Amino acid sequence: MNYVGVDIGGKNIKMGIVDDFGRVLSSMSYKTEQERGYDAVLLEIISNIGVLCEQAGIYTDDISGIGIGVPGICNSRAGLVMSCSTLNWKGVELAGDVTNLTGKPCKVCNDANCAALGEQRFGSGRNYKNLVYITLGTGIGSGIILDGKLFEGLGCAGAEAGHMGISVDGEKCACGNRGCWETFASAKAFVRQTREAVRKNPDGILAEVCKDGISGKSAFIAARKGDKVAASLIERYIDYVTYGLIGLTNILHPQAFIIGGGIANEGAALTLPVKKKLNEYIDNNGFYPYVDVVSAKLGESAEFMGAAALVM
Ligand SMILES: [Zn+2]
Repeated sequence: MNYVGVDIGGKNIKMGIVDDFGRVLSSMSYKTEQERGYDAVLLEIISNIGVLCEQAGIYTDDISGIGIGVPGICNSRAGLVMSCSTLNWKGVELAGDVTNLTGKPCKVCNDANCAALGEQRFGSGRNYKNLVYITLGTGIGSGIILDGKLFEGLGCAGAEAGHMGISVDGEKCACGNRGCWETFASAKAFVRQTREAVRKNPDGILAEVCKDGISGKSAFIAARKGDKVAASLIERYIDYVTYGLIGLTNILHPQAFIIGGGIANEGAALTLPVKKKLNEYIDNNGFYPYVDVVSAKLGESAEFMGAAALVM
């Protein structure tokens, strides 16, 4: 059977037709332009379902359901987008509206939860029924899968590991609390840490790498060129990432952590030291079994593929 998965981001909408085996039959990406309002965004998604079916060589009758990921708080049981500041949506009956317009079943869910489901069904998490997906971006997104099912908490407002507090006196976070994990370990935090290191070491290799702009990759590039400042910066960042994973391991002890987001493209340079530190901690405390740490595999397709999996 075939399903439509939609990932509504602040900048772009990605959508595709996915079958039961995770094969993407057709896909597209276009600008969200959320300022045109909810109805216009919704109607374009509906009309693009027809375009995707045509590209895939199937009829719209062959679509069994539609799943949608949104970067906000969704009540997935009720099909509501409760609050999404990125899109300026509040209390929107998205699933009901899609079903009314298409006659197909529809489910909505938070985008990081969709990505977790996508990776678990079709990506790096295929061998695991218990995993936590973490995406290191502007903040830290997360999705928790327990016994093969998404864990969303009361009102589907849980599974927000990025706002797990790790320092009472830490920096103020966008959520209003202080010292959330994402203020230390998001890609944005790592860029800030890199900028600070450049300011203190203006003549080093790292400063040279960063002269045309700083990204989450800069320190990794400089470290590969032998820069010691960059190497210690990465080591500290790996400590921040691991610190959060230790907290999550103590609560959930999943089989694996799947790391996504731009920094995950560093692959083993990030996941191997994190996995080593996490499992050293587990080893020292006798909290077996060990926990795997792997890079996400589906890249920017994880959200729409996982959204499709919502209705499978
Ligand atoms: Zn926070």
